[in-house]
Amino acid sequence: MGTEFYDVKSFVKRWKAEIKKEVDDGIASGHKKPSLTIVQIGDNPASNKYVDNKIKDCKEVGIFVDLYRIPEGSYIDQGGLNNLVYNCETDGIIIQLPVPEGLKPIDALWYTDPKKDVDGFMPGSGYIPATTLGIIKFLDSVGLGDGSGKNALVIGRSLIVGKPTARQLLDRNWTVEIAHSRTEDLWKHFAGKHLIVSAVGRHGIVDLRQVPAGCTVVDVGINFVDGKMVGDCAHADEAVNAKVTPVPGGVGLLTRAALLENVVKAWKAQWEPEKEW
Ligand code: NAD
Repeated sequence: MGTEFYDVKSFVKRWKAEIKKEVDDGIASGHKKPSLTIVQIGDNPASNKYVDNKIKDCKEVGIFVDLYRIPEGSYIDQGGLNNLVYNCETDGIIIQLPVPEGLKPIDALWYTDPKKDVDGFMPGSGYIPATTLGIIKFLDSVGLGDGSGKNALVIGRSLIVGKPTARQLLDRNWTVEIAHSRTEDLWKHFAGKHLIVSAVGRHGIVDLRQVPAGCTVVDVGINFVDGKMVGDCAHADEAVNAKVTPVPGGVGLLTRAALLENVVKAWKAQWEPEKEW
C-alpha cells in the first residue's frame, strides 16, 4: 500500500555529471565554452526564479550564460525583440515565458539559426522541448524507455508539454491516449495504463487512489496550496502501489537538466554538423 516516490534527484545528479564531462572534454579538445543567451522580459517572480536556476545550472556544468533582462515597464516591441535575437552570438537562445502581451517569442526565434532554439519551440526544431526530454530520459533510467505493449495516458495538450510528450512516447512504442480540458470522466481513462503523465496545473486532477496498481505517474503540474508547492496528484497516502515523481524534486529538476543537454547539443552542432539533426 502507499505510494513510492522516485528518487529523481539522484538521477539528475548523475545526468548533470555526464553533461559536465561532455563540456570538459569538448573544452579540453580545444573548443570554446558552450554558451546560452536568456532573454527575459518583465519581472514575473516565478520567471525570475526559473532564470536564476538556469544560470546556476549552467555555471555548474561550465556553460557561459548571457542574460538580457528587460525590466517591467521598459518598452520593447516585436521588432526590437527580433533584432535582439538576430544579433545574439551564442550557441543556444531561449526567451523566458511568459512575455508581455503582444510579443510573440516564436516569431522572434525565426530570426536566429534554428539550431539555437534550445527550447525546441519552433516547428521542425531539432530539439525535444526540455520538460519532455527530461521525462523521456527519466523513463529510460527506470526501464520504461520502450513502451511496446504498454499503455500511456498524457493529460494536457499544450505545445510545450502535453503534445511533445505524447509524440515522444508514441515514437518509443507506447500506445498513447491524450486527455484534455474537454475530456469527461478523466478517471475512467486511468484503467489499464502503465504510465500517466499529468501536465494540467490543478492539484487533485489525478487522484492516486484511482490509478492502477504499479502504474508510474509523472507529475508535471506545479500548484500552490496553502503556500506549499504541490503537483497534480493527490491522496498519495491512500494509493495502491503507485510510483510517482515527487513535486517538488521531480519534473522541475528533469526540465532543468534537459535544457543543459540541449545547449550542449547546440554547441556540439558547431563541429559535428554532419550529425543527423
Ligand atoms: P497549459 O495551461 O498550457 O495546459 C494545461 C492543459 O491541461 C491543457 O492542455 C488542458 O487541455 C488540460 N486540462 C485542463 N483542465 C483539464 C481537465 N479537467 N482534464 C484534463 N485536462 C485538462 O499548461 P502547460 O504549460 O502544459 O503546463 C501544465 C502544468 O505543468 C502547469 O502546472 C505548469 O506549471 C507545469 N509545468 C511544469 C514544468 C516543470 O518543469 N515542472 C514545466 C512545464 C510546465
